[in-house]
Amino acid sequence: MNIIDRPSPNQAVRPAGGPVDILVLHYTELPLKDSLDVLSDAARETRVSAHYVLDEDGTVYRLVPEDRVAWHAGRSHWRGYEALNVRSTGVEIVNLHGDRHDYPPRQIAVLIELCRAILARHPAIVPQNVVGHSDIAPGRKIDPGLRFPWKALADAGIGLWPKAGAAPIEGDILPALQRFGYSPPRDLAPEEIVKAFQRHFRSTRVDGVADRETRALLAGLLDQVGSQT
Ligand SMILES: [Zn+2]
Repeated sequence: MNIIDRPSPNQAVRPAGGPVDILVLHYTELPLKDSLDVLSDAARETRVSAHYVLDEDGTVYRLVPEDRVAWHAGRSHWRGYEALNVRSTGVEIVNLHGDRHDYPPRQIAVLIELCRAILARHPAIVPQNVVGHSDIAPGRKIDPGLRFPWKALADAGIGLWPKAGAAPIEGDILPALQRFGYSPPRDLAPEEIVKAFQRHFRSTRVDGVADRETRALLAGLLDQVGSQT
């Protein structure tokens, strides 16, 4: 893995003793150079950064050391926590066209290598806590998008993928979504949370409808999380 240091001024100290227990994956929607510029710009009204930027060719740029806070998550919620920058590591993946073009295999191979290294350094990041920006900011963010290969990552030991054949969740789906981790603000429409779940786990149809397949997928995830927390 080829890592190039390109420090960003947009960083802060981690709170003393606080855990780093969430890994957040993003896409940039910008070419590499623009991505690096934006994520290093100290003059923007809202300063942003990430720990790493992963180019399409597999080159990794390190902008912020993992023991410091990068500003990638913004307003965000997961498993009852909010403002997740202080407890997370953020990777921005260069992908110009969002949902229109697959991620190149070389880029994903390096992403898997990078994520494995991050997880090895932060054992508190349980598989349930490997998330997309869209998972932690429903209704606001859609990255890393419908073409992100979440299953390939899960097969490589990064994050979770639903086990097939689970009995669908009955009744109100929201408590079950919250049990998995979705912890959005109260004023957000429940459909947006279902959509966020579908973006990650059922990307062929993101309609916010808690249908039978969506409920079965969620059950197939919840079956796996009891023992890891
Ligand atoms: Zn993002």
